[in-house]
Amino acid sequence: MNQPLDDAGSTLDAAPGSTGLDAELPCHEAVRLSPPARRRTVTVDVGGVAVGGDHPIVVQSMTNTDTADVDATVAQVIALAEAGSELVRVTVNTPAAARAVPDVVTRLDALGVDIPLIGDFHFNGHILLPGNPDCAAALAKYRINPGNVGKKRWDENFARIVECAIENDKPVRIGVNWGSLDQVLLTRMMDENAARPDPLDAHEVTMSAMVESAMRSARAAEQIGLGHDRIILSAKVSGVRDLVAVYRALAPLSDYPLHLGLTEAGMGRKGTVASTAGLSTLLLEGIGDTIRVSLTPRPGGDRTEEVLIARQILQSLGLRSFEPQVTACPGCGRTTSTFFQEMALEIEEYLRDRMPEWKDRYPGVEGLSVAVMGCVVNGPGESRHADIGISLPGTFEEPSAPVFVDGEHSTTLRGDAIVAEFIDILEDYVARRYGAAPVAG
Ligand code: SF4
Repeated sequence: MNQPLDDAGSTLDAAPGSTGLDAELPCHEAVRLSPPARRRTVTVDVGGVAVGGDHPIVVQSMTNTDTADVDATVAQVIALAEAGSELVRVTVNTPAAARAVPDVVTRLDALGVDIPLIGDFHFNGHILLPGNPDCAAALAKYRINPGNVGKKRWDENFARIVECAIENDKPVRIGVNWGSLDQVLLTRMMDENAARPDPLDAHEVTMSAMVESAMRSARAAEQIGLGHDRIILSAKVSGVRDLVAVYRALAPLSDYPLHLGLTEAGMGRKGTVASTAGLSTLLLEGIGDTIRVSLTPRPGGDRTEEVLIARQILQSLGLRSFEPQVTACPGCGRTTSTFFQEMALEIEEYLRDRMPEWKDRYPGVEGLSVAVMGCVVNGPGESRHADIGISLPGTFEEPSAPVFVDGEHSTTLRGDAIVAEFIDILEDYVARRYGAAPVAG
């Protein structure tokens, strides 16, 4: 039961000289760690990758090459796939790009890269897809933006794309984007709103129009004959709070899987933090079946960064495990040397380098947790919580580094070879825990 508090936040009935904290324990509700209940959806098969239902939340990405440049596109798709993207979207904006798609898929097949490609269509999908049947057949999914299918001939153009999906047995993503929202629908909703006795803010109408556009388009696709389990929805905006509000409104309206992403998230730190904030909020509410982090790379920058961040979001939320995680303290005045930072980096790089072999040889190793801590304050405690951890000596501490394995003190390392010895212990632990055979160094 909670103790009554005075204005200063102190307990009122504590005995003199007592904090009162032990008077009636526990003084709060138990902390419960159940995973978020996932929103129920149908499962959509995207070229062999299951999206929705109870399937893992899928990481996807998008190339920024000219799709007509087959060499460049193949190279980037491979890089994204190797980074962990499970679906890759390519722009299909011209007849040349549409003609290149089958070549890209053939080349990927020949190289043994098995990754479904999604075609991103705007303005002319109703021409490119029917006009390039090999492209329509090679793609695993079509992305339709209902905001730029055409104003006057929306129904006809939209139907042509959907019919193409039906003929080729492909799913579609109906991807609404507030930067290209269906203006006919928005104008009508604005007019209706203006006539209301209690009109909404124009921004709220825009957000509502996004949800309406997605749902109307999905209904239209089903009326044309597309299967209910062939539709994924998205409604992307560039503001975190808008994103959360729109998806919270969209989620209860159907059981279509949802593709999450903050559109135009931006560059570097801003894009990473904004995407993480928006996607994490929704994912922790059980909303979202596939995610993309839309980062703007620096000129010549690495496109795979968006994949690594998407994976890290899912792993940090405990929704998927991709690779062992290193817990490292930030360091402070108690550990002034850079040795601790170098060791944390070295261990992280070592784990990454070993994963290609480990993941085949040691199933489950992606769930491994390793702690590398800077001093005795939190070092032993955090190391005990990890599968395997080391607590380095802080300033003025005895130059020794206790190692903890499965929560127990295992050994204490000293001298100049701490990193190498810890890596030996790590290798031995991985081999013992996740596989029968010891791993050669
Ligand atoms: S564990 Fe030690 S070195 Fe690391 S942040 Fe905490 S007090 Fe500082």
